[in-house]
Amino acid sequence: MTFITRKWSAVQGLAGIPHAGVSTVIAFSEVPATDCLLLDLPIRIKERAREVGFDLCGIAPVREFGELESFPAWIAAGHHGEMKYMESRDQAGELKRALLARVAPWARSVIVCALNYNTAHPYSTQTGDASQGWISRYAWSQEDYHDSVLRRLRTLEDSIRAELVNHGPLDATVRSYVDTGPIVERVYAKYAGVGWIGKNTCIINQKLGSWLFLGVILTSLELAADLPAPDRCGRCTRCLDACPTHAFIGPGQLDARLCISYLTIEKRGDIPDELRSGMGRHIFGCDICQDVCPWNRKAPATAAAESQPRGGLVNPALDWLAEMQPEEFRTVFRGSPIRRTKLSDLRRNAVIAMANSGNVKFLPTLKRLAEDPDSVVASHARWALGKVCGESHASRTSR
Ligand code: SF4
Repeated sequence: MTFITRKWSAVQGLAGIPHAGVSTVIAFSEVPATDCLLLDLPIRIKERAREVGFDLCGIAPVREFGELESFPAWIAAGHHGEMKYMESRDQAGELKRALLARVAPWARSVIVCALNYNTAHPYSTQTGDASQGWISRYAWSQEDYHDSVLRRLRTLEDSIRAELVNHGPLDATVRSYVDTGPIVERVYAKYAGVGWIGKNTCIINQKLGSWLFLGVILTSLELAADLPAPDRCGRCTRCLDACPTHAFIGPGQLDARLCISYLTIEKRGDIPDELRSGMGRHIFGCDICQDVCPWNRKAPATAAAESQPRGGLVNPALDWLAEMQPEEFRTVFRGSPIRRTKLSDLRRNAVIAMANSGNVKFLPTLKRLAEDPDSVVASHARWALGKVCGESHASRTSR
């Protein structure tokens, strides 16, 4: 499996299958109050998770899961590209993300929550044309998911603390993370029963599909864990076959350096020439390996206002993005995950998409951009001019 977070990741219903014996086998009157609380708490946490708006919630134990064993080799092979934060190590020189017990020795359980962000709009493989851009579905939202998920986690955290105060008091550490913790969330999501890790490296839930934001709460409480979700990919390889840049080096193994999400969001400056055509019309992220997944064919759409697309972001106009100026960038993408990338890189991606469209209508824009003060935008625009002019010349002479 791989470890890139490409957003760059129901009480089955709440994914938590209540652990056998949580409240049925032991009579609460026969055990101490704090033990009763711990037996009862997983159910209350899942109920509360649903109340605060999460679609799924499950609990995983802290273990040395086999999925994490290949992480050091993945880093050593350089498959993480320029994402240096993935290389962060502890004082002993060990990779922090490889073993949670090393960086959070107090943690005993991981509460994994998931929020459905799918909206009722066609997939990138069903809509638009080459002269329009594509922004990844998760980034259309009114609110940055880091904020919307963390807000819910914090409310859940408060509820857990309140339970502890009321029943003890019981001393415990409870800490929430959205993409910022020393943890590979999807591995814990699997062991919390939220979903299985697909060959496309995404967490997939049998009922909701894979359009899920994940957030985790680490806690020192030893909570009853859920059962891992069974793998339901079977013999399907649609995602692996559909990737335009052949970024999958095997089922569940991604070379991030070739992944369009990485290239459009994480890669700064020049995009290597040989990778530009594979980027197609992608401006920020890529959904192809999820769009083609059969488990997303009937994925339900959320009605949450915060997840509905901002104006202009579904199949966006390429020239609008390519010529965007800093003030408009700040206004249009205020409170959006897109603000986490650089305007220069967003414009660069739009220029590459114009080139890939081969559409001569972009020539006047590209000519202007070839003189742009931003040297990255200008150099990509000069390359794009050559590509569009060359293709148009070739199509004229072949007639
Ligand atoms: Fe699994 Fe097929 Fe979906 Fe890929 S497309 S994640 S192989 S079910």
